[in-house]
Amino acid sequence: MRTHSSLERSRVNGPGSRAVIWLQGCSLNCPGCWNPLSHSIEGGMEVEIASAVEWVADLHASGLIDGLTISGGEPMEQARALLALLQALRLLLPEISIGLFSGYTERELASGAFLSRDANPPSSQADLWRAIRQHLDFAVLGRFNGNRPSQQPLVSSQNQALLLLSDRHSYSDFSPLSVEFTINSQGITQITGFPILQ
Ligand code: SF4
Repeated sequence: MRTHSSLERSRVNGPGSRAVIWLQGCSLNCPGCWNPLSHSIEGGMEVEIASAVEWVADLHASGLIDGLTISGGEPMEQARALLALLQALRLLLPEISIGLFSGYTERELASGAFLSRDANPPSSQADLWRAIRQHLDFAVLGRFNGNRPSQQPLVSSQNQALLLLSDRHSYSDFSPLSVEFTINSQGITQITGFPILQ
């Protein structure tokens, strides 16, 4: 799969402490997108799914995380790789929380109306989403729209929706919007999270 970046531990991308993987490639062009470097399918780097699973498992075994959030870019553009990642994670780590950000609405995903580099027919795309969905604990779905700011947890604009897809979480598990700065041992700073827009 093609990744944009990753973060070992975040407290603003879902409940608890979570690793984050941003997948590379997005063709949705939401006005005001904060992560344009994640759009090109030429950018980022190829990562073996087995390596990503091992990375998450090591972080979990170290007690650093209790969940993983997958964001982008647009993760559904790599739907088959995303499903393979989720299946491998659920086999090895059924106890972790897994969340997904996608710019597509649930209606688009459920009808297979999303762009995937796998070039699947729509019926097969809908099946892919159903298979992906059953591995998720929550998802934040819908385009970013900077003209409709939201103050709801994980939701940047009012048209987006935070969906609970399992009984692992309740809405009270999700903290208010917040921004996080992480400085790693090499002195590299990563900024992630959700500022409150006016
Ligand atoms: S879906 Fe996300 S990455 Fe893609 S353009 Fe919209 S805000 Fe940016």
